Amino acid sequence: MINFLEDTNRFVEKALKYSDISPGLAKKIVVCNSTYTVRFGVRLRGEIHTFEGWRSVHSEHMEPAKGGIRYDMATNADEVEALAALMTYKSAIINVPFGGSKGGLKINPKDWTRNEIEKITRRFAQELIKRDLISPSQNVPAPDIGTSSLEMAWIADEYRKINPTDINAVACVTGKPINKNGLIGREEATGRGIQFIVREFFRNEDLYSKLQLDKNLNNKTMIVQGIGNVGYHLAKFLTTEDKVKLVGIAEYNGGIISKDGIDIEKAKKFFDKKGTLNGFPNSKYIKDGSLILNKECDILIPAAREGVITKSNANLIKAKLIVEAANGPITYKADSILKRKNIFIIPDVLANAGGVAVSYFEWVKNIRHIRFGRLEKRKNILQFNQLIEAIESMTGKEMHKKYKQDFHEGINEIDLVRSGLDDMMIDGFQQVKDVAINNKLDFRTAAFKLAIDKIAMTYDYIGL
Ligand code: NAD
Repeated sequence: MINFLEDTNRFVEKALKYSDISPGLAKKIVVCNSTYTVRFGVRLRGEIHTFEGWRSVHSEHMEPAKGGIRYDMATNADEVEALAALMTYKSAIINVPFGGSKGGLKINPKDWTRNEIEKITRRFAQELIKRDLISPSQNVPAPDIGTSSLEMAWIADEYRKINPTDINAVACVTGKPINKNGLIGREEATGRGIQFIVREFFRNEDLYSKLQLDKNLNNKTMIVQGIGNVGYHLAKFLTTEDKVKLVGIAEYNGGIISKDGIDIEKAKKFFDKKGTLNGFPNSKYIKDGSLILNKECDILIPAAREGVITKSNANLIKAKLIVEAANGPITYKADSILKRKNIFIIPDVLANAGGVAVSYFEWVKNIRHIRFGRLEKRKNILQFNQLIEAIESMTGKEMHKKYKQDFHEGINEIDLVRSGLDDMMIDGFQQVKDVAINNKLDFRTAAFKLAIDKIAMTYDYIGL
């Protein structure tokens, strides 16, 4: 039996041994501040259906508290509390000034039509809004398993209706559609962040050489579990831009392997259309998708859900590097087994923090009421043109069209978002690495220690 909340707290308690904060403050940091359970009815298909959901606020040492809302039949209060705690720690690690929160609704989105999901979402949102569990200044959700920009747009609309005079209403939720005050780059953000973290790992010779790997990404193989938002984007970026070979995909209802590599775009289209990977050309289908995690590869990226690598299968894992794109994919016991096998783990609280980083950018954009780069774009282009002219007149040569074009286009919002994300991910990675080296810790324990020390400092400043 997997206990996600217990495992999360065990990881944190292990890190606390390396921190010199008082036991009282440690307890305050670890406990979840509050969990609200809501049960509400919605009239659908001629009868009332009752739904159950949760919103946990793990920490308000900084506000708003931030964290996604998942729609999943397996969700429950404990799971939501564990996920809210992870939000607190990951925000601290990459210096996003938010507390941690999370929400869940016990529902299988596939059982309902889009109109029905809209009705359910709007009703769930009303319940949370009236208790300030959705609010631009106190609690800001985002998409997670089973939710997308659509649900976020409906939530934002409900908030605006209930609070028509709140000038910052649209900042009550992130991950919104681009034309509904969303931010270009938010949808890809968690996957993009994973790409930046993988690149950074392979820039650190002291780390990759211990795994008998070289620095090149284009000779690496990878297996990804889950090709939803996070898994699809990370697989797309790592295969197309860094030339990593995708040799396996695991989904909940079976997976595929191929030594020659899998085209993620084609596989995603196939899966979305048919609901299965069975029959995908030039690959071998394996009915039990979890077995794919045990196949030969350099990098294994679980990007589906928690508790997929346990003491039962940890010994079978052959990957050298595991990057936790999902939250909590490795249980506490499995973590020790993998460490004994010299498998390097980049933990969820660092690896998948790209989502909250770009959510932060979206929230900032919403409360600034102006898009990034709006004021400086023309000025930058003018300066670039002057620079090109100066270079050309000094050298007597015309600059190559390709470079000129880049300068002429100037810097777009997406360039700024990716640049900010890259910087935050690299910075987080290096901070975790410093703590790991200075204290002789694995990356997970170091990441939690780093987070705990930063949160403790914030509590200190507010006089707790
Ligand atoms: P999603 O619903 O878009 O995708 C999840 C995918 O995993 C789906 O394709 C689903 O079919 C598959 N899946 C579910 N159970 C599986 C199983 N047992 N084996 C194999 N595949 C399975 O969700 P997502 O937003 O991509 O989130 C995935 C993970 O990443 C979650 O742990 C989530 O908390 C975490 N995460 C998401 C974000 C984000 O921005 N969306 C940010 C940080 C962390």
